[in-house]
Parts: sequence; structure tokens; C-alpha cells
Amino acid sequence: MNKQTKTISILGATGSVGQSTLDLVRRNAGNFRVVALTAYSKVQELAADARAFGAELAVIGDVRLLPALKEALEGSGIEAAAGPSGLIEAAGRDADIVMAAIVGAAGLEPTLAAVRRGATVALANKECLVCAGDLMMHEVQIHGATLLPVDSEHNAIFQVFEFEEQKAVERIILTASGGPFRSAGIDTLRSVTPAQAVAHPNWDMGAKISVDSATMMNKGLEMIEAYHLFPVRRDQIDVLVHPQSVIHSMVEYVDGSTLAQLGSPDMRTPIAYCLAWPGRMAAPVKRLRLEEIGQLSFEAPDLERFQCLALAMAALKEGGAAPAVLNAANEVAVEAFLNQRLAFLNIGAVVQETLAACDMKAPQSLQSVMAIDGEARRVARAFADRLADKC
Ligand code: NAD
Ligand code: MG
Repeated sequence: MNKQTKTISILGATGSVGQSTLDLVRRNAGNFRVVALTAYSKVQELAADARAFGAELAVIGDVRLLPALKEALEGSGIEAAAGPSGLIEAAGRDADIVMAAIVGAAGLEPTLAAVRRGATVALANKECLVCAGDLMMHEVQIHGATLLPVDSEHNAIFQVFEFEEQKAVERIILTASGGPFRSAGIDTLRSVTPAQAVAHPNWDMGAKISVDSATMMNKGLEMIEAYHLFPVRRDQIDVLVHPQSVIHSMVEYVDGSTLAQLGSPDMRTPIAYCLAWPGRMAAPVKRLRLEEIGQLSFEAPDLERFQCLALAMAALKEGGAAPAVLNAANEVAVEAFLNQRLAFLNIGAVVQETLAACDMKAPQSLQSVMAIDGEARRVARAFADRLADKC
């Protein structure tokens, strides 16, 4: 192993971010060695990647699939494990970088396990900061872990945020594409299908985040994520709709300067930035040719049509348990929508009703985060079932 070689584990290796990460590892094979890979249910894909990248450990989230994983890995010498404890083991294995790319609150405990051993964590899993941001950032601090933002907006801000001059920062501005329904009327929104909602105009992503982009809940989750990642107040975080997804976010300073990071909408740029940090590495993304793009445009977000963004803004302002409740209700509602049991506009309705029904006391421990998450899911499921009858 040469001196430059970094070891890496990927949680959520079969997903969109996980596969983009493996693509970069494959293209820079001499610089990385894979320790552990995890997935929830795609046994064959997981086993094939574990073999191809010479992983030490492969973990499948669904415990019922452990025998199938063992069979798929037979003769390879790769260890197999399953379930929540297996995911935690993968995160806890000694590796220089852990890519946290599980979707949803399911990624919280494995990500925390990596943080608790003081790892460098490339964080894609925004939901874990939304539901347990204070706790996560406290653990990062006491264990001396390093959190590198993978989410393209936060990665952009990270690249242009002058941490030594943080008092000179006036505002951070998260850009949003506006998703596939940016200019759709409310009547159109009433009848959109999952296939239409996951067809994002600029980014190729997993199903859940694609729906979040279509409702603009994604931008709300990102505001909460930004609040935890950067030393700014809640009222210093703004959203600007920018349909071309060229400017990935901006930081405005007291002297009137606004610094931005630009690039083609390809997650391999922010992922490469995290993998090579504090240096840089080559990534095979389409180079930005502004003369071909011609024009960049901007508009304010419409908080009436995009109720989910308004709800997330309110949850950020309220703090306490509100972001965790918002996140859990949204996960339940998005799943119901993807399973065609809930209308698109009812995603916001389920989140709103769950927020109104749940206790908002701030969680003090991982256990209380889990309890809030569990209760919010139960309440949200009941609302979703009720609304499903009217779908
Ligand atoms: P995805 O659905 O494509 O992949 C999710 C991965 O997590 C898969 O490997 C899946 O097997 C695993 N997984 C799902 N449920 C699990 C569970 N209960 N236990 C264990 N593993 C589980 O999602 P994605 O688009 O790659 O997004 C991953 C995370 O990164 C999300 O939090 C998302 O918000 C964030 N993110 C994604 C993008 C993107 O471009 N895709 C951009 C920014 C941030
Ligand atoms: Mg993003």
C-alpha cells in the first residue's frame, strides 16, 4: 500500500451516492483501498462490488438476506454480516474515510458509530443531521471526528466559507433547482405520479431524495443540515431557486462579496472533494462551459405551492424535536407516495398534521431521538392511512 493510499468504507454502497463513490475509487484504484461496503437488500450487487473492490467486509441491512449474502461471497474470503449491528460494525472498522450514504434516519446509528471512533466522515445522509443534529455535532466535537459535507450545496459552502473569518459571514444562500414541478400549477401537482416526481431535470438521484426535490422538502432539510454544519444563525440561511443547478450555493460577506462554487450537476465533484480533502483529485465530470449554458436565472421560492419547504423552515425556527418529527413524517409520507398510496400534495399534509400532533421537547440522547422518530412515524402512518382513502 503506497503512502498516498486511503482506506474507505461506504455505507449505502448500492445507492446513487455509493455508486458514484465507487466509480471514483475505481478510477483512482491506486489511491484507495475498500474496507467495508453495505447495502439494504441488493445482495448480488453488494457481493459483486465487494469482490471487485476486494473489500474485507460486506454487510446487508435486511437480516433475512444474510444466508444469500454468504452464498454470494463463498470462496472470496470476504466477511459477511447483517442487520443494524452489522452496519455499526462496518462503520466502526478502521478506515480513513467513511462515506455515509444510507438514505433516511436509518443512517443515524451507523454514522454515529463512525463519528465515535473519530473518523473522517463524508456525510451524504442529511437526514441524520436533521433528526439528531445537536447530538451528532456534539459527538463530532468530543471524539475529534471530521465531518465533510457531500451534499452539493453544503460542499459548495464548505469550499468558500472562510472559517477563520466567520463573523464576516452575513448569509449563506442555498440554491435549489426547484425540481420537476418548479413552474407547475397546483392542479397539475394534485395528480402527479411517482414516475414524474422522480424524474429530476438536472440530477440523477435515489427515489426518496428525488421526491424530496419535487416537494422542495429537500431544500428545507438542507437548511437544517446547513444550520448544524456551519457557524451561522438560523436567520442567516436563505434559499434561492436557480433552475440550471450551475451555482451550487453561495456565501455572502459583510464587505458585499458573494463567493460561490460552480460546476456541472454531477455528484462526483463534491464526492471527489471529500475523498481528496484537504487536497483535490481528478473527477471525470462534464466541464462547465458557461458559453454553452448562456444564461443563469434565479427566482424566490414559492412557499405556497411548496408547503414542505415552508414546514421545514418553521421546524428549523422552532428547533427542539420539530426537525426530527418533520423528517420522520416526511419519510413515511414519501414512501406512501412512492407506493401510490398517497397523493403528492398529501405529503405536506401528513407532515403538517404530524408536526401538530407530536410533542416538541428537544431530544437529549440518541434514545430520545429514536423515541421521537418512532412516535412520529406511528402518527404519520395513521394520517397517511386516513388520507389514502381519499387518494
Ligand atoms: P439511494 O436510495 O440511491 O441509496 C440508498 C442506499 O442506502 C442504498 O445503498 C440502500 O441499500 C441503503 N439503505 C436504504 N435503506 C437502508 C436501511 N434501512 N438500512 C441500511 N441501508 C439502507 O439514495 P441516494 O440518492 O444515494 O442518497 C443517499 C443519501 O445521500 C440520502 O440521505 C440523500 O439525501 C443524500 N444525498 C444524495 C444525493 C444524490 O445525488 N443522490 C445528493 C445529496 C445528498
Ligand atoms: Mg443537495
